[in-house]
Amino acid sequence: MKNILLPLILLITFKAEAFTLASSNPPRYGEEVKLTVGTDTCTALGLTPESLLDLVEEAMNDFWNSVPTAKIKFVRGGVGTFSANGETSLSNFLTNSGITNEIIIGCNNDLTAFGSGTIGQGGFRYGGSIGIQGAFIIYDDSSVAGLSKKAKKALIAHEMGHAFGLGHSNFKPALMYYTINYNMDSLSRDDEDAITYLYPNTKKVGGCGTIEDIANSDSGDSKKGLPFILLLIAGVVASRYYARKSFF
Ligand SMILES: [Zn+2]
Repeated sequence: MKNILLPLILLITFKAEAFTLASSNPPRYGEEVKLTVGTDTCTALGLTPESLLDLVEEAMNDFWNSVPTAKIKFVRGGVGTFSANGETSLSNFLTNSGITNEIIIGCNNDLTAFGSGTIGQGGFRYGGSIGIQGAFIIYDDSSVAGLSKKAKKALIAHEMGHAFGLGHSNFKPALMYYTINYNMDSLSRDDEDAITYLYPNTKKVGGCGTIEDIANSDSGDSKKGLPFILLLIAGVVASRYYARKSFF
């Protein structure tokens, strides 16, 4: 029996490191990344821009700022002059904000362009002239309003993961698994490995995982846990193409 157990354990260990990246080797943000919210009041969620920022700040501290092996910190920005409501894609949201090298956040009360059942979207893009642009949108409707505060923070932290370059993990207990575990209030080891892989605290620290091209990932997050709606990643791919070919 011992001969059978060893390979089984190795297999389980390998499966535990299952994160993916949205792009195989993206440029990196600086060591501090500001998170700035739009001017929209999230009516259904009952959040002003400032209170949305409060929630984002709690989420970033509970999750992504808690990894000592990662050399990146997310910091509270302010309220910008841009709006997410009325935007039909993350790409448009990013373009119209004009903000670069930060992560921008908004809520949107019109889900028509994003598909029913979707509750959040996050992504990033980059190009020679625009640096890195990350964004996520939380949907301002009753399905999100009905979530607990803990669940909302898990949703925000998951979308934030996409906004700095993570894809979905194949590891079910991970925050970055495609269906969000609303009971999470901290990262799994797989999530920690993912952010450490992109932002190692020392050159000797790294992560193991399956690196997957963005085209093979999916995006758009569904409360029902359906496999990713391709709209978001397709949007990110398209926007990256656009950024490379058309900006300035
Ligand atoms: Zn996701």
